[in-house]
Amino acid sequence: MKILIVNSGSSSIKFQLIDMGGEKVLASGLVERIGEEKGVVSCTLRPETGLKAKVERSEKVEDHSKGMRLVVDVLTDPASGVISGKDSIEAIGHRVVHGGEEFHSPTLITAEVLEAIENNVALAPLHNPANLDGIRVAGELFPGVKQIAVFDTAFHQTIPPKAYHYALPSELYEKEKIRRYGFHGTSHQYVAQECAKQMKRSLTELNLITVHLGNGCSMCAIERGLSVDTSLGLTPLEGLVMGTRSGDVDPALHFFLARNCGMDIKRIDDMLNKESGLKGLCGMNDMRDIHEQIAVGNKRARLALEVQTYRNRKYIGAFMAVLGRVDAIVFTAGIGENDSIVRAKSLEKMEHFGVELDSQRNDQRVREPVLLSSDSSRVQVWGIPTNEELAIARASKAVLTGEEVCP
Ligand code: ADP
Repeated sequence: MKILIVNSGSSSIKFQLIDMGGEKVLASGLVERIGEEKGVVSCTLRPETGLKAKVERSEKVEDHSKGMRLVVDVLTDPASGVISGKDSIEAIGHRVVHGGEEFHSPTLITAEVLEAIENNVALAPLHNPANLDGIRVAGELFPGVKQIAVFDTAFHQTIPPKAYHYALPSELYEKEKIRRYGFHGTSHQYVAQECAKQMKRSLTELNLITVHLGNGCSMCAIERGLSVDTSLGLTPLEGLVMGTRSGDVDPALHFFLARNCGMDIKRIDDMLNKESGLKGLCGMNDMRDIHEQIAVGNKRARLALEVQTYRNRKYIGAFMAVLGRVDAIVFTAGIGENDSIVRAKSLEKMEHFGVELDSQRNDQRVREPVLLSSDSSRVQVWGIPTNEELAIARASKAVLTGEEVCP
């Protein structure tokens, strides 16, 4: 069974073609700058022969429809030999950012499901319309092929009311559905499952804290396999310090900025989402650049590292209190997998909570699941590469075959 995974964003389409027999990635790539003067399609192809080929094409990509057509061209190009034609694709799995309260698990896309995703546009105005474009275009290009939606929010639908309610007038929840939803659910669930495999335990008996640190950052408290709290909220802005997003701020900041700094809503929105986080603190949002600058004495870069890792530690402490017993803490995503300094600083002073990082084990870039804690650590610490595409492919297959998806 070959499944095409599509992550359709506002100006890009990321894709992977996965052969579920052996879970081999046959092709992975990206269409960027959709709608701009010059778009780029790049793809790495790994046909059955094992030969790796890179394709890069630069041309105007007017819209998502053209973008998806280019993806199909690359995949079916006789020279690359990845697939002979569109018919070889048996299902298409889509990442959908916001499933609201309707979707608790991956779902076969029907007209009703499309309508429900549409109804959640107000909750994710940047993401859901782009996801819907991807689904509609794929539907036109692959008539009759089953499409599955895998929601970023679904894994967090087990969070109890005491954790998902904000202390706001209740009609805001009842009428507007304002509550914590959480995101990165596919990643948290995937690394939790991988961690359980590594620990040779059932996920249903484990309490875990999963720490996803990429450009976007979030943390999840997982009790017996179920998400019971998470740091991202109504939107992907709350919680940890991210590449360009602020994470937690005093809600009164917004009034202050409006009253004293003459900023309107759009300006505040842009500032908190695109100009804050690591970038706001030091002008850089890539942790590799930040380390380089720290090495030459850049104080702002040092502060950015301190602020981010302190916030991580504060949330880990909070989620330990939420869970009581914690069996493992899992680091994942770009920073979580690659940055031993961030991991170490995020776990400072935690020996009293039973967390002992082994500095030698921690001193590596994680390429496969590895134990990073000492043998005597009561709470294990793992580095586990996330793989959202594979998780979407597995979930899509499970929907088609009727297998159990959840732990
Ligand atoms: P996204 O949220 O876009 O999926 P990723 O999970 O790919 O992001 O993470 C991207 C971030 O990972 C980069 O912005 C950078 O800060 C960080 N990163 C990537 N490689 C390294 C590295 N070797 N060391 C430290 N940080 C890294």
